[in-house]
Amino acid sequence: MEWRRAQLQRMRTMMAERENDILDALAKDMRMPKYEAFISVMALINAEIDHAEKHLSEWMRPKRVSTSLANMPASSRILAEPLGVVLIIGPWNYPVQLMLSPLVGAIAAGNCALLKPSEHAPASEALIASMIPQYLDSEAIKVVLGGVPETTAVLNERFDHIFFTGSVNVGRIVMQAAAKHLTPVTLELGGKSPCIVAKNANLDAAAKRIVWGKFYNAGQTCIAPDYILVDASVEAELVAKMKAALSTFLGPDPKQSSDYGRIIHAGHHARLVSFIKDGEVVVGGDSDENELYIAPTILRNVSPDSRIMTEEIFGPILPVLPVKDLEAAIEFVNEREKPLALYVFSNDSDTQDEVLLRTSSGGACVNDVVAHIGCGSLPFGGVGESGMGAYHGRASFDAFSHHKSILDKALFIEPPLRYAPYDNSKLKWARRLI
Ligand code: NAD
Repeated sequence: MEWRRAQLQRMRTMMAERENDILDALAKDMRMPKYEAFISVMALINAEIDHAEKHLSEWMRPKRVSTSLANMPASSRILAEPLGVVLIIGPWNYPVQLMLSPLVGAIAAGNCALLKPSEHAPASEALIASMIPQYLDSEAIKVVLGGVPETTAVLNERFDHIFFTGSVNVGRIVMQAAAKHLTPVTLELGGKSPCIVAKNANLDAAAKRIVWGKFYNAGQTCIAPDYILVDASVEAELVAKMKAALSTFLGPDPKQSSDYGRIIHAGHHARLVSFIKDGEVVVGGDSDENELYIAPTILRNVSPDSRIMTEEIFGPILPVLPVKDLEAAIEFVNEREKPLALYVFSNDSDTQDEVLLRTSSGGACVNDVVAHIGCGSLPFGGVGESGMGAYHGRASFDAFSHHKSILDKALFIEPPLRYAPYDNSKLKWARRLI
């Protein structure tokens, strides 16, 4: 406990002393606005550290549970033990947060960790590599750098757990590599998170909140609303309100706004630009390859079979698809892979329940988007193709712990019941007791 506490405290010091370096690195990598970087990294990681420190002794305490009559006299308890050496592989979109957030859990649970940040966010990658050994115990926590060949080599090694955040396809590669050593995995993957807007929704709130969550970090957020399913009767009104909200948030030309980020690299930029032609542009649509800029873009008349609707978008392009009613929206979601998040905007609790009970997703928000990630008491993770396992808060401690079941038997009595020779009277007792 002493070591874990000390490391968490060192991590907090690191966050305080290196705040400017962290915000600068994110600005260099994708021009992430300072405010967005502060909320998504500083606020989130500090909250995770505080929560872990506050609950550490309670989480580590062996949990007493009842003992079955047949095992009496004895006591039973569950002891959380560290898994050992864990590998944490991260993506480029929140390159610092997605290394440090799982690391809080790994440390709280008493593990050694090897961190592999994304090579596509070079400033953050370099910062992590220099900062971690400076603040944390380098005997127990190390960083390895590289792209596909290096990660492939690392994955050949044996770990006690692999915590992977990234795409579905690479998730499959990681799980395959883990299978060789029977290493358990947590897979925090992506996918297409739908946002359902019912006809009885508060459209002003929906428009503002959707625009905020979709265009935060220029749409490069795993739980950003990927597309909207809106009741056809309110589609035009919702689009008009989203357009107005965008203009209020980012001004008439988002390219000039310091509150709007850029795309991570040219390859991703080209991929996203190619999606724009999949629909009718109603807002935005312009892009600049030299600046890695894509305007916040809203599309209508998008075919469900187009590329933009069959691949995860992961950028600032928002297709709006009208549906004739709630039933059609639920059917649309259920015909596809289970998403990482699902959002429903409606003023009516029956409508909300209908959506929540008849669809499956990693997490969900009612009348909001994205914000559930910042609620430390909610485990964060996917289901089906969007991932397996969860973390944040207590769930992080559990993700990096083995819960060992212990039966502690008394010695003062030795009931002969379980031992041979067996006879009918023992069987009779066994039937009663077990
Ligand atoms: P990615 O899967 O391409 O890369 C993630 C990590 O895997 C990187 O560190 C990379 O070096 C490594 N990697 C890539 N190819 C590999 C290979 N063939 N073998 C071994 N390692 C390999 O993902 P990305 O492009 O960095 O991130 C975007 C994806 O991550 C999106 O799908 C997004 O939804 C997802 N994501 C999920 C969450 C979540 O919490 N569930 C959070 C952020 C991003």
